[in-house]
Amino acid sequence: MNSPVKSALVVGAGIGGLTAAAALRRAGIDVVLCERGPELRAAGFGLSVQSNAMNALRTLDLGIDEELLRAGAQARSFTFRRPDGSDMRRVDVSGIDAELGAPAVALARKDLHDVLLAACGDDLRVELGAEAVAFTETADAVQVEFADGRTLSADVLIGADGINSAIRAQLHGAEAPRPGKFVCWLALVPFAHPAIEPGASIHYWGRGMRFGIHDIGHGNVYWWATLTTTAEQAADWPHGKDDLLTRFASWAPEITAIITATPESDILALPAQDRPPLTEWGSGRVALLGDAAHPMLPSLGQGANSAIEDAVVLAHTLATHDDAVTALRVYEQRRIPRTTMLVDGSRKLGRLEQTRNRALIVVRDGFIAKGNEAKLQASLAEPMTWPGLGDLEPVAALPRPLSTLERWHWTVDQVAPLHIVSRVRVTGDLDAEAVRAGMAALTRRHPMLHTEVRSDDGRNPRFAPVAIKPIPLREVTSEDWTTEIDTELRTRFDADAPLLRATLITAAPGIHDLVLTSTYTIADAVTVLSFARQVLELAAEPGGWIAEVPAPPAPEALFPRPFQGWRGKRKAIARLAADGARDLRVKPVRVRAGTEVAPARRFTKLTRRVVDGTEYQALLAACAERDVPLSSLVAATLARAAGNDAAAPQAHFPVGVSVLFREQLERPLDAIHTGAYQAMIALPTPAGQPLWQTATAFATDLASRIEQRQHLANLGGIGFMLPKTPAQPDKVVSLLDARGPGNLCLTFVDTRDFPTRIGNWEVSGPEVVSGMSISGLMMLTVGHGTDALSLNLGYIDGLLSPERADTLIDTLVDALLSVVSTPEVAAVH
Ligand SMILES: Cc1cc2nc3c(=O)[nH]c(=O)nc-3n(C[C@H](O)[C@H](O)[C@H](O)COP(=O)(O)OP(=O)(O)OC[C@H]3O[C@@H](n4cnc5c(N)ncnc54)[C@H](O)[C@@H]3O)c2cc1C
Repeated sequence: MNSPVKSALVVGAGIGGLTAAAALRRAGIDVVLCERGPELRAAGFGLSVQSNAMNALRTLDLGIDEELLRAGAQARSFTFRRPDGSDMRRVDVSGIDAELGAPAVALARKDLHDVLLAACGDDLRVELGAEAVAFTETADAVQVEFADGRTLSADVLIGADGINSAIRAQLHGAEAPRPGKFVCWLALVPFAHPAIEPGASIHYWGRGMRFGIHDIGHGNVYWWATLTTTAEQAADWPHGKDDLLTRFASWAPEITAIITATPESDILALPAQDRPPLTEWGSGRVALLGDAAHPMLPSLGQGANSAIEDAVVLAHTLATHDDAVTALRVYEQRRIPRTTMLVDGSRKLGRLEQTRNRALIVVRDGFIAKGNEAKLQASLAEPMTWPGLGDLEPVAALPRPLSTLERWHWTVDQVAPLHIVSRVRVTGDLDAEAVRAGMAALTRRHPMLHTEVRSDDGRNPRFAPVAIKPIPLREVTSEDWTTEIDTELRTRFDADAPLLRATLITAAPGIHDLVLTSTYTIADAVTVLSFARQVLELAAEPGGWIAEVPAPPAPEALFPRPFQGWRGKRKAIARLAADGARDLRVKPVRVRAGTEVAPARRFTKLTRRVVDGTEYQALLAACAERDVPLSSLVAATLARAAGNDAAAPQAHFPVGVSVLFREQLERPLDAIHTGAYQAMIALPTPAGQPLWQTATAFATDLASRIEQRQHLANLGGIGFMLPKTPAQPDKVVSLLDARGPGNLCLTFVDTRDFPTRIGNWEVSGPEVVSGMSISGLMMLTVGHGTDALSLNLGYIDGLLSPERADTLIDTLVDALLSVVSTPEVAAVH
């Protein structure tokens, strides 16, 4: 029978086991941590917790990443040196950290252990002196036997018992680790030297020998050395400190000084060893983690870091699956490819690092000293990139470049705000604290809400993860929420602020409007309404585990194949040509701008009307009777209103309809996923013909174009219109003003399934308002609710005057009501 995991035995209290205990407890799972040692103690050297592990830890929201920065030293530079101490290359890592969204921290292992243990909570059950020797599995539990005769059982067993894991041995047979053919010395010592700057990580590369020094803060330094030797000698290094001093005597003076300053008993000699990657880790209710699953050579510095990643992914996977065995296999499928890459990569790099081949050393050192900086930084950053919680389905690891569509939205938004806003009315006691709690949980759920867009002066924009920041919340008392929407449509997001913000409007005691504003770079109408729903749901049930919803890849990556890449572009060109020929026949007329407005001042303003009561029901009934979608009828009335505005009642107007295409992706996405999946199809629509006739023809034409997926083909052409940078939009703006599909646009949002009650709150009036920026003149966002039709006309202030916008929407409503006019009509607000 399927049942969620409630209890776990974690065997091994190293870095992997401790992180697993903290993460699993965070996920609400009971944990017993079993360690064979008589106490929880870390070996006395240091290590670096890299950006990938820091990003993974952040998803737990336990503050571990901040504690680590307090305990150690943030890594600020990475320097490659020759044995004599001269620099081959110094890399300031701030750029890499910024791209990866988190710094690396060097610290003592003991401090890392302490921070992780504290994150587990005081009431963690720990079994010491508990050396696991075997396990047995039943249908609904797994039991572990310990060397002293104890037994313990739980829903699942996590073998985090290191490179010589007993759990792994029972699963896969006991085999000796694979030798790396070099020996490592490790130590930690209070030490300072002018050659070691604060936050330094320094690697000295010699012939078959290397030395490393890391500032771990608080006056301490962690150092290591390596020497290529035979597997036998590495396994049992026979010499002591004097031998080490002799070997490094001709190296930089700080090296001799640091070895001299370290007591011999504090220097640990260990063989470098790993194991060939496994294609399956566990079975049934048993899983492996960290070195037990994938021990690796130290070259990439990822052994502990990948154990931390494992633990975080394990907890998320168990928390989000109903069945223990399935969850453990999903965890393994998520982790095996990445850890295999790290095991293989460490071995490959280790060979290069430890080589004694003089010719190869010349090439190697030449690349380090003179190689392309961007390539070097990319090779350093690759293993330190947190791949996210992963999924069986494709998900996007951050950082990643913006796709063409995302770049379009971002670039336009940089010129003038291109925002998308949702509003819901909440009746009941809703205070700012509850909204903040809901938003904090929402931020943890969505990686895109702790992401910034970085660029090189407007070029190469990319999503980079950043530390979680609170979503800004404005509190306002007002009976008129639409004024706040105007503010939200024109106020830019700060460059380093989350890409979502909130306004809590109190209209009267117990009556509130929750307004959420995002940008099209990460959200469409569906996303922003879903955010509103999620904030309230999460606020209604604060605390508890928040499983991350991994960021999906860019929309284009999920397009059906015929619409990707060059094939997509070819379709776009064919589409443009066909539409051009059609326009020559129909000669559509555009709504003309009143005054010139500079691109950067193209702010969207809102005017709105609501149709409700018997009129709305009559409209719905009339549409049902004629089998015409309400959206097509609205499109017909929009053309009618445009004809009136342009004093061209018999002309055709290009009505651009937003097609929300989540369901047409290779892997359909539901509303919980972030992103903008919205494309446009513009249809020349007659203003003067009978409305039902126009609406029927519009519906048929639109349906066949959607079926052919013309909206996706149209997106294939968006790259042609993209300004190179937000600083040079003028040419594009002229083109868009003259020919763009955004002259007269319509987005139809079905809000009928929005809940009417969340927690103790009554919820009503879900609405969306779309901004326009430079992409056009006006966008009518229509909310198709259960009791009302809301018509939110966002127009560019100045291109259209408020009076023209009001007349336009009034004409539209009159036309709409004309098809159902009855004496007992309800008021139009
Ligand atoms: C020279 C060297 C340098 C390194 N440098 C780095 C670095 O800079 N960055 C990095 O990320 N990684 C580094 N590593 C790797 C890193 O130390 C390991 O990958 C990491 O400690 C693995 O954590 P773990 O929890 O899986 O295993 P371990 O840390 O080995 O912990 C296993 C735990 O299980 C316990 N145990 C073992 N058997 C049993 C049993 N039968 N029953 C109960 N308990 C048991 C052990 O006592 C131990 O506490 C380095 C490793 C070496 C050798």
